[in-house]
Amino acid sequence: MRTREQYFQGLSKMNRNLYSNGEKIDRLDERQEAALNVLGLTFDAVWDDESKDLCTATSHLTGETINRFTHIHQDPVDLHKKQDMTRYLCNKVGQCIQRCMGVDAANAIHAVSYMAQQSPDAKTAYHDNWLNWLEKFQADDLVGCCAQTDVKGERMKRPAEQTDPDMYVHVVEERSGGIVVRGAKVHISEASIADEILVVPTRALKSNEKDYALCFAVPADHDGVKQVVHFHNLRKRDHYQRGIEVGYTDSYVIFDDCFVPWERVFTCGEQDHGGVAALLFALFHRHSYSGCKPAMLDYVIGLAALAAEINGIEKTPHVREMLSELIMTGELGYAAGYTSSALGKAEVYIPGMGFLPYGPGNCIPHSIYANVGRCLTGEAVFHEQEILCNIAGGMPATFPYEKDLTSPETKELLEKYLMRNPNIPVEEQIKFWLNFVDFALSGSSGSMLYGAYHGGGSPIMEQIAITSQYDIESKKDIVRRLAGMKPR
Ligand SMILES: Cc1cc2nc3c(=O)[nH]c(=O)nc-3n(C[C@H](O)[C@H](O)[C@H](O)COP(=O)(O)OP(=O)(O)OC[C@H]3O[C@@H](n4cnc5c(N)ncnc54)[C@H](O)[C@@H]3O)c2cc1C
Repeated sequence: MRTREQYFQGLSKMNRNLYSNGEKIDRLDERQEAALNVLGLTFDAVWDDESKDLCTATSHLTGETINRFTHIHQDPVDLHKKQDMTRYLCNKVGQCIQRCMGVDAANAIHAVSYMAQQSPDAKTAYHDNWLNWLEKFQADDLVGCCAQTDVKGERMKRPAEQTDPDMYVHVVEERSGGIVVRGAKVHISEASIADEILVVPTRALKSNEKDYALCFAVPADHDGVKQVVHFHNLRKRDHYQRGIEVGYTDSYVIFDDCFVPWERVFTCGEQDHGGVAALLFALFHRHSYSGCKPAMLDYVIGLAALAAEINGIEKTPHVREMLSELIMTGELGYAAGYTSSALGKAEVYIPGMGFLPYGPGNCIPHSIYANVGRCLTGEAVFHEQEILCNIAGGMPATFPYEKDLTSPETKELLEKYLMRNPNIPVEEQIKFWLNFVDFALSGSSGSMLYGAYHGGGSPIMEQIAITSQYDIESKKDIVRRLAGMKPR
């Protein structure tokens, strides 16, 4: 396993294929530092006595101890641990921990490459390729990101119907040594600080969409890959230092006729398995949300409760009601994820056929509970902001700048008029509101909310998964029986 310093050293040697705001930049550019600090914690955690049991696992390939972010879940206990690790690490940073996309994609491709290799028309030994890639991923403790979301162009048209065929990533040429791919994946979290990009399709595919049924991995600085990067950083502070500096990045990842050697290709043309790859990455990722969303609720509950305490309203009935609502959402999301882990099996829901064995035996979370938890907590994020706004009042929207809070001409006056609760030193109250502004009213918070709402699939995608996989007919049977109606 690596240390954070070894991870940074690896990034410093990568080719320059990052573009931002008109410049070509290095991996260790200062605008990436806050995001690197977040990912750095995933390396620190495996050396820390408090967290090493949770954050490490035993590789099923080699028997070596590995970072859990590179592990293939073998049983429900592994799924429980991933969920708990995610909640634990997100609590450390107060935001997304940014490394779950890679492990979620790895778990999906592990199963899909195994099944695709058994297809009569398989173009290469997909699963053998995959196992070689995975062994290096685990041994070198690499950071993977997942590029699933295609640009998708005209929303109501399928991939093969688009005016421009490049709106979904696809194969444009097959050569003896590999394939050439073209297209762009967007909003790809942490691609700019990842070692590897794992690519899976966005959606289920039809028989005329084989060119889009692609799973592969490339180094994040591979020839033919360009990344246009967006940083989400907080305003620098001079006086009131934060407990931790955090940020995140995402990229438009453009495959500009990118050559991918066969040994890095894990499905290519098997449209049924390509569709399962889309579904499985989303499923593993929605399960990860049952760790990160409760962690974000932990943070929101703390913010709401402290804002109420500072405002002296913590005992009022409306605050109690709002706090209980936040607690219920977070813990129901956690409970759904827990159940999804506990019922995990090497099975996938195949439309029209139900749940069937799938893959070489790695443990897959139960789909209904993973989707229910993700949908419940994802849809709640803007309402959580409403609760914070309600309890805080207008204070965070107009909070004074740091230099006014420290200037000799205004410091004492501002401290006098910012005081709300004489039992809490005003300096502490100021730090609290500055943090509240970072979380709820900064530029970063807007994009974080969009990520929390749409990441892993918009709510409609979870609703489709839930209603298409749930046995609604059996519920009608209950009513038929109770009502004395004829059985189905
Ligand atoms: C901060 C952030 C980080 C992210 N990180 C990642 C990442 O690491 N990897 C990754 O792969 N993706 C990532 N995503 C992408 C995320 O998964 C997508 O945003 C999500 O799947 C929705 O896709 P979209 O943004 O294209 O929205 P759209 O699909 O365009 O959705 C917009 C609206 O259109 C509706 N709609 C779209 N198509 C149809 C249709 N055919 N019929 C009816 N209605 C339709 C949707 O339901 C929705 O209401 C991230 C997103 C954000 C915001």
